Amino acid sequence: MAYSYDDENIFAKILRGEIPNDTVFETEHSLAFNDIRPQAPIHVLVIPRGKYVNYDDFAANASDEEILDYTRAIAKVCEMKGVEAEGFRMISNAGHNGVQEVPHLHVHILGGRNLGRMLTPA
Ligand code: 5GP
Repeated sequence: MAYSYDDENIFAKILRGEIPNDTVFETEHSLAFNDIRPQAPIHVLVIPRGKYVNYDDFAANASDEEILDYTRAIAKVCEMKGVEAEGFRMISNAGHNGVQEVPHLHVHILGGRNLGRMLTPA
């Protein structure tokens, strides 16, 4: 699937330095920062610097180097936030049904409390 990328999305602006962010960790290809509206005591967003709309787009089209960097950045954030012991949730919303607000790939890392069941009945 070929996704079209919107250069004006809010995370693109963060990556260009046009909007500030509360950085947790960064690498050549990835950036992790605290969510502006945290849903749990720990709520970090991890994004690739490359222009990928969602995880499907990234997994299909990113270079091996980007995928490795991004995957390891997620592990580093988990380590830095100490979520391994008590557990955490990793979510990546995509598109309309996934209720994705920002069309630049991001993984939510949530922890610091029991997060309940994954989905509540609609
Ligand atoms: P989505 O629904 O796309 O998976 O989640 C987008 C997330 O981005 C939301 O949790 C929202 O709070 C967060 N967000 C939206 N705008 C900003 C922003 O300007 N800065 C930060 N740090 N987070 C944002």
